Amino acid sequence: MTSIANNIKDITNSLPSGVKLVAVSKTKPNEDILEAYSIGQRIFGENKVQDLSKKSEELPSDIEWHFIGHLQTNKVKYLAPFVSLIHAVDSLKLLKTIHKEAAKNNRVIDCLLQCKVATEESKFGMSESELFDLLSSESYAGLSNIRITGLMGMATNTANEQQVRKEFGLLKKIFEKVKAEYFTEDAEFKELSMGMSHDYTIAVEEGSTMVRVGSSIFGERNYTK
Ligand SMILES: *Cc1c(COP(=O)(O)O)cnc(C)c1O
Repeated sequence: MTSIANNIKDITNSLPSGVKLVAVSKTKPNEDILEAYSIGQRIFGENKVQDLSKKSEELPSDIEWHFIGHLQTNKVKYLAPFVSLIHAVDSLKLLKTIHKEAAKNNRVIDCLLQCKVATEESKFGMSESELFDLLSSESYAGLSNIRITGLMGMATNTANEQQVRKEFGLLKKIFEKVKAEYFTEDAEFKELSMGMSHDYTIAVEEGSTMVRVGSSIFGERNYTK
């Protein structure tokens, strides 16, 4: 068995049942994705619209493609025909655009709202109050071609495990609050996308339902090539 296949097996076996693995294949070639696919991996994540569109055309049609990066409104149209989950929605404007493009494709597109819990300045995402404002707004109520299925977030990139745990714990708390306030009737609000290669075990302990793992599966990324 290849190392990619072995890595997928090891990670999958270490996850509690019900926690989904998004194999983050950004910058990696189709052959690597097919190795993961060959042992049953079906969910893959990419963070560049152009790469995702190209790979989705070239690779098996039963792959569930997740967009995990920061999405610009003018690029939503390229993803709308096929994307299965958009992880990092961080504004009402983006949500409206996804709704509009989904409608053109006769689809309802699943989205996660990105919530900022890390202390790092550079991280995208909404604060708790911005999340509540969005979900309370009248224009959100009219968006019939999107479905919010949960939240997504990232912890600070630090070796301080206590800090990472605290941030994931905070995100879980916000998730429960949002669910209680806006989605009590909806079983569909159930995903908490948190955890990457270096922190997914902590994320799972803190309540993640979906981990996004790249380098621990495919090896380090080489951005210069
Ligand atoms: C690249 C990326 C990941 C995966 O990162 P690894 O450290 O390689 O596991 C997860 N989430 C997002 C949003 C990413 O951009």
